[in-house]
Amino acid sequence: MNEQTLFRQTRWRLASWYAGVMGIILTLSGFGVYEAIDHAHRTAADRELQAISGRLHDNLEPTLQQPGEVPVNTQRFLPDPCISPNQCMENPSAAEPPPGDMFQGNYYIRLLDPSRDLIALAGLRPQGLAFPSPTSQWEYLRDEDNIRYRQITLPLQNPDAPLWGHLQVGISLEDSDRYLVSVRLVLFTGLPLALIFVGIAGWWLAGQAMRPIRQSYQQMQQFTADAAHELRTPIAAAQATVESVLDTPHLSEAETRKTLQVLDRQHQRLSQLIRDLLLLTRLDLQGQATQTNTCCLGDLVNDIAEELAALALNSKVHLNTDIQNRQPLKVIGDEGQLYRLVFNLVINAIQYTSNGGEVTIALAQQDQQAVVQVRDTGVGIAPEYQSKIFNRFYRVDNDRNRQTGGSGLGLAIAQAITQQHRGRIQVQSQVGQGSKFIVHLPRVTP
Ligand code: ADP
Repeated sequence: MNEQTLFRQTRWRLASWYAGVMGIILTLSGFGVYEAIDHAHRTAADRELQAISGRLHDNLEPTLQQPGEVPVNTQRFLPDPCISPNQCMENPSAAEPPPGDMFQGNYYIRLLDPSRDLIALAGLRPQGLAFPSPTSQWEYLRDEDNIRYRQITLPLQNPDAPLWGHLQVGISLEDSDRYLVSVRLVLFTGLPLALIFVGIAGWWLAGQAMRPIRQSYQQMQQFTADAAHELRTPIAAAQATVESVLDTPHLSEAETRKTLQVLDRQHQRLSQLIRDLLLLTRLDLQGQATQTNTCCLGDLVNDIAEELAALALNSKVHLNTDIQNRQPLKVIGDEGQLYRLVFNLVINAIQYTSNGGEVTIALAQQDQQAVVQVRDTGVGIAPEYQSKIFNRFYRVDNDRNRQTGGSGLGLAIAQAITQQHRGRIQVQSQVGQGSKFIVHLPRVTP
C-alpha cells in the first residue's frame, strides 16, 4: 500500500470512528434530554393533579351524604357542573372551562357512583374518554381526538358511611405532548445535521492529528533512504577494490598493502557510520533521560583542545580556548555524550576553516546556563542552509563535504545530545566570515 492510500484510509477510519463515537454520545445525550423533559412534565402534571384533587376531595367529601346524589352545596365546589352528564357530553360547546383559580382550562372532574356510573361532570368535557376501573389510582387515558389525559381517582367516603362513589380529576396533556413532539422534531432533524458537522470536523481533526505522524513517517523514509545510500557508498568502493585486485594475476607486496589500506579506510568509514546511527537511535530512544552524573565543562573543553591540537596544526588552523569562569562550570549529564557534542562542533570548525584561520572554544556562564561557543573564521553557512544543517545526512555542499569524510550526521548527533541534556543549540554564521555554534545547557548550581 502506498503512502497516500495508507494515510487517506487511516484518516477515513479515524474520522468515521470519531463521527461514530460522537454520534452515539449525541444520540444518548439527546435521548437523555428528551427523557428529562418528559419526566419533568410528567412530575409537574402529577404534582398539580395531586394538589387539586386533594383540595377537591377534602371539600367535597363532607358534603356528600346520599350515594348517587350530588347536593347543591357540593356543586359550588365544581366549576360549571353538569349533573346530567349524558346531555353535557352530547353538547361539546359546553366544553369551554369556566375561569377560576383552580382551573386553568385543562382539567376535568368526574364524580362516579360505586358502580362506576357517571353522576356529575365539571370542567373540560373530553369526548370518548374511557371509564377505567377506579381501583387504579393513576392512569393515562386518550379521548377520541387522541389527546392524552393524566387522571387520578380518589374514593369518596365519609367515616361510618358506605362508599359514596369516586372522584376523578384529569389533566389534559395536550400542551406538554405538543411540546414533546417539537422536541422530538428538533432532535430527529438536528441529530443528522450535527452528525454531518461532526463528520466534517472529524475529517479535519484527523487530518490535523496525522500531520506530524505523516511528517515523521516521511522523515523516517528519507532517513532510511539516506542511511542505505551512505552505507552503500563504502561497500561499493570496497567491492570495486576487491574486484580490481581479483582481476590482477600477480600482486606485489606494495600493491597488496595499498589494497588493504583502501579496504581499511572504507571499513573505518562504515564502522563510524554504523556507530553514529546506533548512537542516534539510542538518543532517540532515551529521550530526555534522567541523568545523575555531573560533568565539568572546563575540563572537557581543555581535553578536546588537547586532542584536536594535532589536527588543527595539520590544517594550519589556530585552536584556542577561552574559559571565562574561575569556578568549575558543571552540568548534569553523560560526560561521553557531552564530549562528543563539543568534539563534533570543533572538528567541523577545523574542517571548514582554511589555512591561517582561527577556531575558538569558549565557555561562559549566563544566569542558570552554561554556554559553550565554538567560533571559527571559516567558510560560513548561507542563511538558507542554517535551519537544515541539523537534519540527518544533510550536507551543504555534498561533494566537498564527502571529501572531508563527513556523513552529515555530526550536527544531528550534536543536536540530539543537547536536547537530551535539556539544552538548546543554535548557529550564527556569515558566508566568508565564519560560524558560531552556541550550546546552552542548564548548569549545576552550587
Ligand atoms: P558533516 O559530517 O558533513 O560535517 P555535519 O552534520 O557535521 O556533517 O554538518 C552538516 C553540514 O553543515 C556540513 O556538511 C557543512 O556543510 C555544514 N557545517 C557544519 N559546521 C560548519 C562550520 N563550522 N562551518 C561551515 N559549515 C559547517
